[in-house]
Amino acid sequence: MSKPGTFFNYDPSNGQRIGEYEIASPTRVEEALRSSRRAFESWRERPFRQRVRALASLRRSIVDDTPRLVDIICRDTGKVRLEALMSDIYPTLDLIRYYEDNLESILGKDPRKSSAGFGSRAWVEYFPVGVVGVIAPWNYPFQLSMIPTVTALAAGNGVVLKPSEISPMVGDAIDELLGSVTDLPRGLVEVVHGPGEVGESLIAAGPDMIFFTGSVATGKRIMRSASENLTPLILELGGKDAFIVLDDANLERAAAGAVYASFANTGQLCVSAERIYVQESVVQRFVELVRKETARLRVDEGYDGDVGPLTHPEGAERVRQHIDDALDRGAEVAQVAGAGGGESSRSPESLPCVLTGVDHSMDVMTRETFGPIMPIMAFADDSEAVRLANDSDFGLNASVWSRDLERAGKVARQLRVGNVSVNDAVKNIGSPDLPFGGVKHSGFGRYHGPEGLKNFSHTRSVSVQSGRRSKEINWFPFTPETYEDLMKYIHLRFGAGSLRDKASEAWSLLQRFAQRGLR
Ligand code: NAD
Repeated sequence: MSKPGTFFNYDPSNGQRIGEYEIASPTRVEEALRSSRRAFESWRERPFRQRVRALASLRRSIVDDTPRLVDIICRDTGKVRLEALMSDIYPTLDLIRYYEDNLESILGKDPRKSSAGFGSRAWVEYFPVGVVGVIAPWNYPFQLSMIPTVTALAAGNGVVLKPSEISPMVGDAIDELLGSVTDLPRGLVEVVHGPGEVGESLIAAGPDMIFFTGSVATGKRIMRSASENLTPLILELGGKDAFIVLDDANLERAAAGAVYASFANTGQLCVSAERIYVQESVVQRFVELVRKETARLRVDEGYDGDVGPLTHPEGAERVRQHIDDALDRGAEVAQVAGAGGGESSRSPESLPCVLTGVDHSMDVMTRETFGPIMPIMAFADDSEAVRLANDSDFGLNASVWSRDLERAGKVARQLRVGNVSVNDAVKNIGSPDLPFGGVKHSGFGRYHGPEGLKNFSHTRSVSVQSGRRSKEINWFPFTPETYEDLMKYIHLRFGAGSLRDKASEAWSLLQRFAQRGLR
Protein backbone atom coordinates (compact mmCIF):
# COMPACT_ATOMS: atom_id res chain seq x y z
CA MET A 1 0.00 0.00 0.00
CA SER A 2 1.28 3.47 -0.83
CA LYS A 3 1.26 6.14 1.93
CA PRO A 4 -1.69 8.56 1.82
CA GLY A 5 -0.93 11.27 -0.73
CA THR A 6 1.44 9.04 -2.71
CA PHE A 7 1.22 6.44 -5.48
CA PHE A 8 3.50 3.71 -6.86
CA ASN A 9 4.55 2.87 -10.38
CA TYR A 10 5.32 -0.71 -11.45
CA ASP A 11 7.61 -2.52 -13.87
CA PRO A 12 5.25 -4.00 -16.50
CA SER A 13 7.61 -6.90 -17.25
CA ASN A 14 7.39 -8.37 -13.72
CA GLY A 15 4.85 -6.30 -11.76
CA GLN A 16 7.56 -5.17 -9.29
CA ARG A 17 7.20 -1.76 -7.71
CA ILE A 18 9.64 0.82 -9.14
CA GLY A 19 9.04 4.05 -7.24
CA GLU A 20 6.74 6.10 -5.04
CA TYR A 21 5.47 9.52 -6.12
CA GLU A 22 3.74 12.33 -4.31
CA ILE A 23 0.23 13.18 -5.49
CA ALA A 24 0.01 16.91 -6.24
CA SER A 25 -2.51 18.55 -3.89
CA PRO A 26 -5.09 21.00 -5.29
CA THR A 27 -2.99 23.79 -3.72
CA ARG A 28 0.14 22.58 -5.54
CA VAL A 29 -1.83 22.44 -8.82
CA GLU A 30 -3.06 26.01 -8.33
CA GLU A 31 0.51 27.11 -7.57
CA ALA A 32 1.72 25.39 -10.74
CA LEU A 33 -0.90 27.25 -12.77
CA ARG A 34 0.05 30.59 -11.19
CA SER A 35 3.74 29.97 -11.82
CA SER A 36 3.12 29.12 -15.48
CA ARG A 37 0.91 32.19 -15.87
CA ARG A 38 3.64 34.44 -14.46
CA ALA A 39 6.25 33.02 -16.85
CA PHE A 40 3.77 33.20 -19.72
CA GLU A 41 3.57 36.99 -19.36
CA SER A 42 7.14 37.30 -20.63
CA TRP A 43 7.07 34.31 -22.98
CA ARG A 44 4.01 35.57 -24.89
CA GLU A 45 5.95 38.72 -25.84
CA ARG A 46 8.92 36.85 -27.31
CA PRO A 47 9.20 37.19 -31.08
CA PHE A 48 9.00 34.04 -33.21
CA ARG A 49 12.77 33.82 -33.65
CA GLN A 50 13.31 33.65 -29.90
CA ARG A 51 10.69 30.92 -29.53
CA VAL A 52 12.38 29.04 -32.37
CA ARG A 53 15.75 29.35 -30.63
CA ALA A 54 14.30 27.80 -27.47
CA LEU A 55 12.72 24.98 -29.49
CA ALA A 56 16.03 24.28 -31.23
CA SER A 57 17.80 24.08 -27.93
CA LEU A 58 15.13 21.69 -26.61
CA ARG A 59 15.59 19.54 -29.73
CA ARG A 60 19.33 19.31 -29.15
CA SER A 61 18.83 18.42 -25.47
CA ILE A 62 16.51 15.55 -26.48
CA VAL A 63 19.00 14.25 -29.03
CA ASP A 64 21.85 14.36 -26.48
CA ASP A 65 19.71 12.55 -23.93
CA THR A 66 18.03 10.02 -26.24
CA PRO A 67 19.61 6.78 -24.89
CA ARG A 68 18.62 7.65 -21.30
CA LEU A 69 15.13 8.76 -22.35
CA VAL A 70 14.58 5.53 -24.31
CA ASP A 71 15.64 3.54 -21.26
CA ILE A 72 13.20 5.42 -18.99
CA ILE A 73 10.31 5.05 -21.47
CA CYS A 74 10.95 1.29 -21.73
CA ARG A 75 11.14 0.79 -17.96
CA ASP A 76 7.97 2.81 -17.33
CA THR A 77 5.83 1.13 -20.01
CA GLY A 78 7.51 -2.21 -20.80
CA LYS A 79 7.68 -1.28 -24.49
CA VAL A 80 10.58 -2.39 -26.67
CA ARG A 81 13.49 -0.08 -27.40
CA LEU A 82 12.84 0.50 -31.11
CA GLU A 83 9.25 1.44 -30.38
CA ALA A 84 10.36 4.05 -27.81
CA LEU A 85 12.94 5.46 -30.20
CA MET A 86 10.79 5.65 -33.34
CA SER A 87 7.33 6.29 -31.88
CA ASP A 88 8.12 8.43 -28.84
CA ILE A 89 11.39 10.27 -29.50
CA TYR A 90 11.46 10.56 -33.31
CA PRO A 91 8.01 12.15 -33.89
CA THR A 92 8.71 14.65 -31.11
CA LEU A 93 11.97 15.73 -32.75
CA ASP A 94 10.34 15.81 -36.18
CA LEU A 95 7.55 18.08 -34.95
CA ILE A 96 9.94 20.45 -33.16
CA ARG A 97 11.95 20.75 -36.38
CA TYR A 98 8.72 21.44 -38.30
CA TYR A 99 7.87 24.32 -35.94
CA GLU A 100 11.39 25.70 -36.18
CA ASP A 101 10.99 25.84 -39.97
CA ASN A 102 7.35 26.97 -40.17
CA LEU A 103 6.34 28.79 -37.00
CA GLU A 104 6.32 32.30 -38.41
CA SER A 105 4.70 31.38 -41.71
CA ILE A 106 1.85 29.63 -39.86
CA LEU A 107 1.27 32.06 -37.00
CA GLY A 108 2.38 35.30 -38.65
CA LYS A 109 0.00 38.01 -39.84
CA ASP A 110 -2.33 36.62 -42.53
CA PRO A 111 -3.75 39.33 -44.88
CA ARG A 112 -7.35 38.90 -46.10
CA LYS A 113 -8.28 40.53 -49.38
CA SER A 114 -12.04 40.34 -49.60
CA SER A 115 -12.64 42.34 -46.42
CA ALA A 116 -10.32 45.09 -47.58
CA GLY A 117 -11.43 47.81 -50.02
CA PHE A 118 -12.87 51.34 -49.72
CA GLY A 119 -9.58 52.41 -48.17
CA SER A 120 -9.28 49.64 -45.62
CA ARG A 121 -6.95 46.72 -44.94
CA ALA A 122 -7.70 43.51 -43.09
CA TRP A 123 -5.77 40.60 -41.69
CA VAL A 124 -5.93 37.74 -39.21
CA GLU A 125 -3.47 37.49 -36.36
CA TYR A 126 -2.95 34.76 -33.80
CA PHE A 127 -2.24 35.22 -30.13
CA PRO A 128 -1.56 32.70 -27.37
CA VAL A 129 -4.47 31.36 -25.32
CA GLY A 130 -2.59 31.49 -21.98
CA VAL A 131 -1.79 28.37 -19.96
CA VAL A 132 -2.71 25.01 -21.49
CA GLY A 133 -3.50 22.06 -19.21
CA VAL A 134 -2.10 18.96 -20.91
CA ILE A 135 -3.46 15.66 -19.54
CA ALA A 136 -1.59 12.71 -21.03
CA PRO A 137 -1.92 8.91 -21.25
CA TRP A 138 0.76 6.26 -20.65
CA ASN A 139 0.91 4.41 -23.97
CA TYR A 140 3.29 6.89 -25.67
CA PRO A 141 4.15 8.82 -22.54
CA PHE A 142 6.89 10.94 -24.08
CA GLN A 143 5.35 11.80 -27.45
CA LEU A 144 1.82 12.36 -26.16
CA SER A 145 3.05 14.68 -23.40
CA MET A 146 5.76 16.45 -25.38
CA ILE A 147 3.94 17.12 -28.65
CA PRO A 148 1.03 19.05 -27.10
CA THR A 149 3.45 20.75 -24.70
CA VAL A 150 5.83 21.83 -27.47
CA THR A 151 2.89 22.94 -29.64
CA ALA A 152 1.53 25.06 -26.80
CA LEU A 153 4.97 26.61 -26.23
CA ALA A 154 5.51 27.27 -29.94
CA ALA A 155 2.21 29.16 -30.01
CA GLY A 156 3.43 31.30 -27.07
CA ASN A 157 1.59 29.59 -24.21
CA GLY A 158 2.55 28.21 -20.80
CA VAL A 159 1.79 24.59 -19.84
CA VAL A 160 0.80 22.59 -16.79
CA LEU A 161 1.34 18.94 -17.70
CA LYS A 162 -0.25 16.04 -15.86
CA PRO A 163 1.43 12.87 -17.07
CA SER A 164 -0.25 9.52 -16.56
CA GLU A 165 0.13 8.04 -13.07
CA ILE A 166 1.16 4.81 -14.84
CA SER A 167 4.27 6.42 -16.39
CA PRO A 168 5.50 9.05 -13.89
CA MET A 169 9.21 8.42 -14.57
CA VAL A 170 8.71 9.79 -18.07
CA GLY A 171 6.86 12.77 -16.57
CA ASP A 172 9.84 13.46 -14.33
CA ALA A 173 12.27 13.13 -17.25
CA ILE A 174 10.21 15.68 -19.23
CA ASP A 175 10.20 18.05 -16.25
CA GLU A 176 13.99 17.80 -16.03
CA LEU A 177 14.47 18.12 -19.76
CA LEU A 178 12.36 21.28 -20.10
CA GLY A 179 13.95 22.72 -16.95
CA SER A 180 17.38 22.37 -18.60
CA VAL A 181 16.45 24.60 -21.55
CA THR A 182 17.75 27.97 -20.44
CA ASP A 183 15.89 29.81 -23.23
CA LEU A 184 12.55 28.87 -21.61
CA PRO A 185 11.48 31.08 -18.67
CA ARG A 186 11.51 29.24 -15.32
CA GLY A 187 8.09 27.92 -14.36
CA LEU A 188 6.66 28.20 -17.90
CA VAL A 189 6.10 24.43 -17.93
CA GLU A 190 5.04 22.83 -14.66
CA VAL A 191 4.53 19.09 -14.13
CA VAL A 192 1.99 17.81 -11.59
CA HIS A 193 1.85 14.11 -10.76
CA GLY A 194 -0.98 11.87 -9.68
CA PRO A 195 -4.11 9.99 -10.74
CA GLY A 196 -7.32 11.31 -12.29
CA GLU A 197 -8.18 13.51 -9.31
CA VAL A 198 -5.09 15.64 -10.07
CA GLY A 199 -6.40 16.07 -13.61
CA GLU A 200 -9.70 17.19 -12.08
CA SER A 201 -7.88 19.72 -9.85
CA LEU A 202 -6.06 21.01 -12.91
CA ILE A 203 -9.31 21.63 -14.77
CA ALA A 204 -10.91 23.21 -11.67
CA ALA A 205 -7.91 25.55 -11.27
CA GLY A 206 -8.96 27.22 -14.52
CA PRO A 207 -6.38 26.78 -17.31
CA ASP A 208 -7.13 28.68 -20.52
CA MET A 209 -7.35 25.52 -22.60
CA ILE A 210 -7.26 21.75 -22.05
CA PHE A 211 -5.58 19.25 -24.31
CA PHE A 212 -6.58 15.74 -23.33
CA THR A 213 -5.45 12.40 -24.72
CA GLY A 214 -7.02 9.29 -23.24
CA SER A 215 -10.13 7.16 -23.05
CA VAL A 216 -13.65 8.11 -24.13
CA ALA A 217 -14.99 7.72 -20.56
CA THR A 218 -12.44 10.17 -19.14
CA GLY A 219 -12.92 12.51 -22.12
CA LYS A 220 -16.63 12.79 -21.30
CA ARG A 221 -15.85 13.56 -17.64
CA ILE A 222 -13.33 16.20 -18.66
CA MET A 223 -15.77 17.84 -21.05
CA ARG A 224 -18.34 18.07 -18.26
CA SER A 225 -15.80 19.66 -15.86
CA ALA A 226 -14.46 22.02 -18.53
CA SER A 227 -17.97 23.33 -19.18
CA GLU A 228 -17.96 24.98 -15.69
CA ASN A 229 -15.53 27.66 -16.90
CA LEU A 230 -16.31 27.24 -20.61
CA THR A 231 -12.69 26.17 -21.00
CA PRO A 232 -11.95 25.30 -24.65
CA LEU A 233 -10.67 21.78 -25.14
CA ILE A 234 -9.29 19.31 -27.62
CA LEU A 235 -10.11 15.66 -27.02
CA GLU A 236 -7.94 12.93 -28.55
CA LEU A 237 -9.77 9.74 -27.60
CA GLY A 238 -9.89 6.09 -28.51
CA GLY A 239 -10.13 4.30 -31.83
CA LYS A 240 -11.27 1.06 -33.45
CA ASP A 241 -9.45 1.45 -36.73
CA ALA A 242 -10.55 -0.42 -39.83
CA PHE A 243 -7.89 -1.94 -42.09
CA ILE A 244 -9.44 -2.74 -45.48
CA VAL A 245 -7.69 -5.16 -47.86
CA LEU A 246 -9.15 -5.13 -51.39
CA ASP A 247 -8.69 -8.16 -53.67
CA ASP A 248 -6.03 -6.43 -55.83
CA ALA A 249 -3.79 -5.45 -52.90
CA ASN A 250 -0.12 -6.35 -52.60
CA LEU A 251 -0.97 -9.06 -50.08
CA GLU A 252 2.58 -9.50 -48.73
CA ARG A 253 2.76 -5.80 -47.89
CA ALA A 254 -0.80 -5.71 -46.53
CA ALA A 255 -0.16 -8.71 -44.27
CA ALA A 256 3.12 -7.32 -42.93
CA GLY A 257 1.39 -3.93 -42.47
CA ALA A 258 -1.52 -5.53 -40.59
CA VAL A 259 0.83 -7.39 -38.23
CA TYR A 260 2.73 -4.17 -37.54
CA ALA A 261 -0.40 -2.00 -37.17
CA SER A 262 -2.16 -4.51 -34.89
CA PHE A 263 0.73 -5.54 -32.66
CA ALA A 264 3.08 -2.53 -32.45
CA ASN A 265 3.33 -1.41 -28.82
CA THR A 266 1.44 -4.62 -27.95
CA GLY A 267 -1.66 -3.13 -29.61
CA GLN A 268 -1.74 -0.27 -27.06
CA LEU A 269 -1.97 2.32 -29.74
CA CYS A 270 -4.91 4.62 -30.43
CA VAL A 271 -4.38 4.13 -34.18
CA SER A 272 -3.90 0.38 -33.90
CA ALA A 273 -5.57 -1.70 -36.64
CA GLU A 274 -8.35 -3.27 -34.55
CA ARG A 275 -10.67 -4.50 -37.34
CA ILE A 276 -9.21 -6.19 -40.41
CA TYR A 277 -11.61 -6.54 -43.34
CA VAL A 278 -10.38 -8.64 -46.27
CA GLN A 279 -12.14 -9.30 -49.58
CA GLU A 280 -13.49 -12.88 -49.70
CA SER A 281 -11.43 -14.07 -52.68
CA VAL A 282 -8.09 -13.29 -50.97
CA VAL A 283 -8.91 -13.80 -47.29
CA GLN A 284 -7.47 -17.31 -47.07
CA ARG A 285 -4.12 -16.29 -48.57
CA PHE A 286 -4.05 -13.15 -46.39
CA VAL A 287 -4.63 -15.19 -43.20
CA GLU A 288 -1.79 -17.57 -44.17
CA LEU A 289 0.61 -14.65 -44.66
CA VAL A 290 -0.45 -12.99 -41.40
CA ARG A 291 -0.04 -16.26 -39.48
CA LYS A 292 3.51 -16.64 -40.77
CA GLU A 293 4.43 -13.05 -39.85
CA THR A 294 2.83 -13.36 -36.41
CA ALA A 295 4.57 -16.63 -35.60
CA ARG A 296 7.91 -14.97 -36.31
CA LEU A 297 7.41 -12.09 -33.83
CA ARG A 298 9.99 -12.10 -31.03
CA VAL A 299 8.04 -11.79 -27.81
CA ASP A 300 10.57 -13.01 -25.23
CA GLU A 301 13.59 -10.87 -25.84
CA GLY A 302 12.92 -8.05 -23.38
CA TYR A 303 13.44 -4.52 -24.64
CA ASP A 304 15.27 -5.81 -27.75
CA GLY A 305 12.36 -7.89 -29.04
CA ASP A 306 9.45 -6.96 -31.33
CA VAL A 307 6.57 -6.93 -28.86
CA GLY A 308 6.71 -6.26 -25.12
CA PRO A 309 4.23 -7.07 -22.34
CA LEU A 310 1.00 -5.16 -21.74
CA THR A 311 1.76 -2.09 -19.64
CA HIS A 312 -1.12 -2.31 -17.20
CA PRO A 313 -2.94 -5.30 -15.59
CA GLU A 314 -6.35 -3.74 -16.44
CA GLY A 315 -5.40 -4.08 -20.11
CA ALA A 316 -4.97 -7.85 -19.71
CA GLU A 317 -8.45 -8.18 -18.19
CA ARG A 318 -10.03 -6.32 -21.12
CA VAL A 319 -8.13 -8.39 -23.71
CA ARG A 320 -9.14 -11.65 -21.99
CA GLN A 321 -12.77 -10.56 -21.94
CA HIS A 322 -12.72 -9.67 -25.67
CA ILE A 323 -11.10 -12.99 -26.61
CA ASP A 324 -13.51 -15.03 -24.45
CA ASP A 325 -16.53 -13.17 -25.82
CA ALA A 326 -15.35 -13.75 -29.41
CA LEU A 327 -14.62 -17.47 -28.84
CA ASP A 328 -18.01 -17.94 -27.13
CA ARG A 329 -19.71 -16.46 -30.19
CA GLY A 330 -17.91 -18.71 -32.66
CA ALA A 331 -14.56 -17.03 -33.48
CA GLU A 332 -11.38 -19.11 -33.77
CA VAL A 333 -7.77 -18.48 -32.82
CA ALA A 334 -5.77 -18.73 -36.07
CA GLN A 335 -2.36 -17.93 -34.60
CA VAL A 336 -0.64 -16.83 -31.41
CA ALA A 337 2.82 -15.25 -31.49
CA GLY A 338 5.60 -17.19 -29.91
CA ALA A 339 3.81 -20.47 -30.64
CA GLY A 340 6.27 -21.20 -33.45
CA GLY A 341 9.32 -20.85 -31.24
CA GLY A 342 8.11 -22.69 -28.12
CA GLU A 343 5.98 -21.63 -25.18
CA SER A 344 6.28 -18.03 -24.07
CA SER A 345 6.70 -17.14 -20.41
CA ARG A 346 4.43 -14.14 -20.92
CA SER A 347 0.80 -13.78 -19.89
CA PRO A 348 -1.37 -15.10 -22.76
CA GLU A 349 -3.24 -11.76 -23.08
CA SER A 350 -0.03 -9.95 -24.01
CA LEU A 351 0.80 -12.33 -26.88
CA PRO A 352 -0.21 -11.22 -30.38
CA CYS A 353 -3.24 -13.26 -31.40
CA VAL A 354 -5.01 -13.59 -34.77
CA LEU A 355 -8.76 -14.32 -34.69
CA THR A 356 -10.92 -15.44 -37.61
CA GLY A 357 -14.66 -16.06 -37.89
CA VAL A 358 -15.48 -12.77 -36.20
CA ASP A 359 -18.48 -10.48 -36.78
CA HIS A 360 -20.01 -7.27 -35.45
CA SER A 361 -21.93 -9.05 -32.68
CA MET A 362 -18.60 -9.42 -30.83
CA ASP A 363 -16.94 -6.90 -28.49
CA VAL A 364 -13.66 -7.46 -30.32
CA MET A 365 -15.21 -5.77 -33.39
CA THR A 366 -17.06 -2.97 -31.63
CA ARG A 367 -15.19 -1.92 -28.46
CA GLU A 368 -11.64 -0.63 -28.22
CA THR A 369 -9.45 -3.60 -27.24
CA PHE A 370 -6.17 -1.69 -26.82
CA GLY A 371 -4.29 -4.97 -26.88
CA PRO A 372 -2.57 -7.36 -29.32
CA ILE A 373 -5.56 -8.95 -31.05
CA MET A 374 -6.09 -8.99 -34.80
CA PRO A 375 -9.67 -9.99 -35.73
CA ILE A 376 -10.09 -10.73 -39.45
CA MET A 377 -13.47 -10.59 -41.20
CA ALA A 378 -14.30 -11.18 -44.88
CA PHE A 379 -16.37 -8.84 -47.09
CA ALA A 380 -17.91 -9.25 -50.54
CA ASP A 381 -17.35 -5.92 -52.30
CA ASP A 382 -16.14 -2.34 -51.81
CA SER A 383 -19.49 -1.01 -50.66
CA GLU A 384 -19.76 -3.69 -47.99
CA ALA A 385 -16.23 -2.83 -46.79
CA VAL A 386 -17.24 0.83 -46.44
CA ARG A 387 -20.44 -0.08 -44.62
CA LEU A 388 -18.61 -2.35 -42.15
CA ALA A 389 -15.83 0.17 -41.55
CA ASN A 390 -18.32 2.96 -40.83
CA ASP A 391 -20.37 0.74 -38.53
CA SER A 392 -18.52 1.97 -35.43
CA ASP A 393 -18.86 4.58 -32.70
CA PHE A 394 -15.24 5.54 -33.36
CA GLY A 395 -13.68 7.48 -36.23
CA LEU A 396 -10.00 7.98 -35.60
CA ASN A 397 -7.97 6.38 -38.36
CA ALA A 398 -8.29 3.80 -41.15
CA SER A 399 -6.33 2.33 -44.02
CA VAL A 400 -7.16 0.92 -47.47
CA TRP A 401 -4.91 -1.53 -49.34
CA SER A 402 -5.07 -1.88 -53.13
CA ARG A 403 -2.82 -1.67 -56.19
CA ASP A 404 -5.48 0.49 -57.85
CA LEU A 405 -4.99 3.87 -56.18
CA GLU A 406 -8.14 5.31 -57.72
CA ARG A 407 -10.26 2.49 -56.32
CA ALA A 408 -8.54 2.76 -52.92
CA GLY A 409 -9.07 6.54 -52.93
CA LYS A 410 -12.77 6.10 -53.65
CA VAL A 411 -13.13 3.75 -50.68
CA ALA A 412 -11.00 6.01 -48.45
CA ARG A 413 -13.13 9.07 -49.24
CA GLN A 414 -16.25 7.32 -47.92
CA LEU A 415 -14.77 6.52 -44.50
CA ARG A 416 -15.95 8.65 -41.57
CA VAL A 417 -12.57 9.07 -39.89
CA GLY A 418 -10.19 11.92 -39.13
CA ASN A 419 -7.20 10.24 -40.77
CA VAL A 420 -6.81 7.67 -43.52
CA SER A 421 -3.89 6.13 -45.40
CA VAL A 422 -3.62 4.05 -48.54
CA ASN A 423 -1.19 1.07 -48.55
CA ASP A 424 0.25 2.28 -45.26
CA ALA A 425 -0.77 2.35 -41.62
CA VAL A 426 -0.11 4.19 -38.34
CA LYS A 427 1.56 6.85 -40.42
CA ASN A 428 -0.49 10.03 -40.09
CA ILE A 429 -0.11 10.43 -36.33
CA GLY A 430 3.65 10.69 -36.75
CA SER A 431 3.52 13.25 -39.59
CA PRO A 432 4.31 16.76 -38.38
CA ASP A 433 2.43 18.58 -41.15
CA LEU A 434 -0.75 16.47 -41.22
CA PRO A 435 -3.46 17.57 -38.77
CA PHE A 436 -4.35 14.63 -36.53
CA GLY A 437 -7.56 13.91 -34.62
CA GLY A 438 -10.82 12.03 -34.68
CA VAL A 439 -14.53 12.24 -35.42
CA LYS A 440 -17.45 10.63 -33.57
CA HIS A 441 -16.36 9.15 -30.20
CA SER A 442 -12.69 9.48 -31.15
CA GLY A 443 -12.88 13.12 -30.13
CA PHE A 444 -12.61 16.50 -31.77
CA GLY A 445 -10.06 19.19 -32.51
CA ARG A 446 -6.79 18.61 -34.31
CA TYR A 447 -3.12 18.90 -33.49
CA HIS A 448 -0.02 18.68 -35.74
CA GLY A 449 0.32 20.73 -38.90
CA PRO A 450 -0.74 24.35 -39.40
CA GLU A 451 -4.31 23.57 -38.28
CA GLY A 452 -3.05 22.08 -35.02
CA LEU A 453 -0.72 24.95 -34.18
CA LYS A 454 -3.51 27.45 -34.79
CA ASN A 455 -5.75 25.47 -32.43
CA PHE A 456 -3.39 26.40 -29.59
CA SER A 457 -3.90 30.09 -30.41
CA HIS A 458 -6.76 32.53 -30.38
CA THR A 459 -7.63 34.11 -33.69
CA ARG A 460 -8.07 37.87 -33.91
CA SER A 461 -9.44 39.48 -37.04
CA VAL A 462 -8.30 43.05 -37.59
CA SER A 463 -9.55 45.68 -40.03
CA VAL A 464 -7.99 49.09 -40.40
CA GLN A 465 -9.49 52.09 -42.21
CA SER A 466 -7.35 55.00 -43.27
CA GLY A 467 -9.81 57.26 -41.38
CA ARG A 468 -9.82 60.01 -44.02
CA ARG A 469 -13.56 59.78 -44.90
CA SER A 470 -15.90 61.61 -42.57
CA LYS A 471 -18.31 58.66 -42.37
CA GLU A 472 -19.43 55.39 -44.06
CA ILE A 473 -22.45 55.24 -46.35
CA ASN A 474 -24.35 52.75 -44.17
CA TRP A 475 -24.03 54.94 -41.04
CA PHE A 476 -26.77 57.37 -39.93
CA PRO A 477 -28.77 59.11 -41.21
CA PHE A 478 -30.73 56.35 -43.03
CA THR A 479 -32.15 58.41 -45.93
CA PRO A 480 -34.12 57.21 -49.01
CA GLU A 481 -31.12 58.30 -51.20
CA THR A 482 -28.75 56.10 -49.18
CA TYR A 483 -31.20 53.21 -49.49
CA GLU A 484 -31.36 53.67 -53.26
CA ASP A 485 -27.57 53.90 -53.58
CA LEU A 486 -27.07 50.75 -51.53
CA MET A 487 -29.63 48.91 -53.68
CA LYS A 488 -27.59 49.87 -56.73
CA TYR A 489 -24.39 48.80 -55.03
CA ILE A 490 -25.86 45.36 -54.24
CA HIS A 491 -27.02 44.95 -57.81
CA LEU A 492 -23.64 46.00 -59.08
CA ARG A 493 -21.72 43.60 -56.83
CA PHE A 494 -23.92 40.55 -56.82
CA GLY A 495 -26.48 40.89 -59.64
CA ALA A 496 -26.50 39.87 -63.29
CA GLY A 497 -25.41 42.15 -66.14
CA SER A 498 -22.65 42.62 -68.66
CA LEU A 499 -19.29 43.98 -67.66
CA ARG A 500 -19.90 47.05 -69.87
CA ASP A 501 -23.26 47.85 -68.10
CA LYS A 502 -21.68 47.28 -64.72
CA ALA A 503 -18.75 49.57 -65.50
CA SER A 504 -21.09 52.44 -66.31
CA GLU A 505 -23.26 51.69 -63.22
CA ALA A 506 -20.10 51.71 -61.08
CA TRP A 507 -18.99 55.01 -62.54
CA SER A 508 -22.29 56.76 -61.82
CA LEU A 509 -22.42 55.31 -58.30
CA LEU A 510 -18.89 56.50 -57.55
CA GLN A 511 -19.82 59.98 -58.69
CA ARG A 512 -22.86 60.02 -56.41
CA PHE A 513 -20.68 58.88 -53.50
CA ALA A 514 -18.13 61.59 -54.35
CA GLN A 515 -20.84 64.28 -54.42
CA ARG A 516 -21.91 63.18 -50.96
CA GLY A 517 -18.31 63.21 -49.70
CA LEU A 518 -18.25 59.45 -49.18
CA ARG A 519 -15.46 58.35 -51.47
P1 NAD B 1 -7.29 7.42 -19.32
O1 NAD B 1 -8.46 8.14 -19.84
O2 NAD B 1 -7.48 6.39 -18.28
O3 NAD B 1 -6.22 8.46 -18.68
C1 NAD B 1 -5.65 9.49 -19.41
C2 NAD B 1 -5.22 10.61 -18.47
O4 NAD B 1 -6.37 11.19 -17.88
C3 NAD B 1 -4.35 10.14 -17.31
O5 NAD B 1 -3.34 11.10 -17.09
C4 NAD B 1 -5.34 10.10 -16.16
O6 NAD B 1 -4.74 10.25 -14.89
C5 NAD B 1 -6.21 11.28 -16.48
N1 NAD B 1 -7.54 11.26 -15.86
C6 NAD B 1 -8.26 10.18 -15.47
N2 NAD B 1 -9.45 10.59 -14.96
C7 NAD B 1 -9.47 11.94 -15.02
C8 NAD B 1 -10.43 12.93 -14.68
N3 NAD B 1 -11.61 12.61 -14.15
N4 NAD B 1 -10.13 14.24 -14.91
C9 NAD B 1 -8.97 14.58 -15.47
N5 NAD B 1 -8.01 13.69 -15.82
C10 NAD B 1 -8.26 12.37 -15.60
O7 NAD B 1 -6.53 6.83 -20.59
P2 NAD B 1 -5.22 5.91 -20.63
O8 NAD B 1 -5.58 4.54 -20.16
O9 NAD B 1 -4.08 6.61 -19.98
O10 NAD B 1 -4.90 5.88 -22.21
C11 NAD B 1 -5.49 4.96 -23.07
C12 NAD B 1 -6.58 5.59 -23.91
O11 NAD B 1 -6.07 6.74 -24.58
C13 NAD B 1 -7.09 4.67 -25.00
O12 NAD B 1 -8.49 4.77 -25.10
C14 NAD B 1 -6.44 5.25 -26.26
O13 NAD B 1 -7.11 4.96 -27.46
C15 NAD B 1 -6.43 6.69 -25.96
N6 NAD B 1 -5.41 7.38 -26.76
C16 NAD B 1 -5.82 8.24 -27.75
C17 NAD B 1 -4.89 8.86 -28.58
C18 NAD B 1 -5.30 9.82 -29.66
O14 NAD B 1 -4.44 10.53 -30.15
N7 NAD B 1 -6.56 9.88 -30.07
C19 NAD B 1 -3.53 8.60 -28.38
C20 NAD B 1 -3.16 7.71 -27.38
C21 NAD B 1 -4.11 7.11 -26.57
